Amino acid sequence: MTQRYDLHCHSTASDGALAPAALVKRAVEQGVTVLALTDHDTTEGLAEARQQADLLGLQFINGIELSATYLNQCLHIVGLNIDPANPQLMVGLQQQQTLRTERAHKIAEKLAKKKISGAYEAVSQAAGNGEITRSHFADFLVRNGHADTLQGAFDRYLSKGQSAYVPTIWADLEQVVNWINGAGGVAVLAHPLRYKLTAKWMNRALTAFKAAGGQGIEVVTGRASLEEIRFSHQYAIKHQLAASLGSDFHAPDSPYLELGRLAELPKDLQPVWELF
Ligand code: AMP
Ligand code: MN
Ligand code: MN
Ligand code: MN
Repeated sequence: MTQRYDLHCHSTASDGALAPAALVKRAVEQGVTVLALTDHDTTEGLAEARQQADLLGLQFINGIELSATYLNQCLHIVGLNIDPANPQLMVGLQQQQTLRTERAHKIAEKLAKKKISGAYEAVSQAAGNGEITRSHFADFLVRNGHADTLQGAFDRYLSKGQSAYVPTIWADLEQVVNWINGAGGVAVLAHPLRYKLTAKWMNRALTAFKAAGGQGIEVVTGRASLEEIRFSHQYAIKHQLAASLGSDFHAPDSPYLELGRLAELPKDLQPVWELF
């Protein structure tokens, strides 16, 4: 049987709209046969997702998307096939989660200075037991009429250089890769073209990533054009990285992005799942 993979998506454990079990159910409905849940800096959703995956006969991979800092730049590193009970990883996640909570308070303070009050309480309630992300703030800003769209909320308030942007120093790239490798996982650079790095900086970052023990790069992502896939393909070859694919699905209401709706990986690259 040919498998249909999706190795990057989010649940209510971070900024996804669906609870882990509902996400798995939707993945099955979309024809996905191998799914990794990769919430931002948390493994909280994995147990529920796995339970549902076992019920429905879907192959489930424990995943995470860690925020990392490389020379002032935030990079997202997906960890696949990790052991969520690994003690060093758990300590690391505690640190990242503390940074997220502190940052959320600071973003809310900046919004308050713009006469937008109550943001922390609102996002904290919306996130529930999950991690607070900037997506929660974007939702809050749209709900309260401060932006028309999520993109607009980022452009006006939340993106780098905007009034409620709070620079955050996440764990070092090397540290993050070590956590993933220490937990038996495979580290994958997420959505390489989303950082808008020049080729020179991308090559630098990938050299550091590889030297730290990173093994994969997302070549096919949810909204990538053929040209973008070609770029990532070239980076995979140049740095001898295995190729991953994932939708980065967050919510059912996005018409262009669905679980498992992905182009095939280029045939000349090693699929990342061969490393599991
Ligand atoms: P955080 O990790 O808390 O900084 O939040 C990052 C998340 O915000 C990403 O994973 C996306 O889900 C979302 N995001 C970032 N930039 C944008 C954008 N321009 N438009 C919509 N969502 C965005
Ligand atoms: Mn997200
Ligand atoms: Mn990301
Ligand atoms: Mn993601």
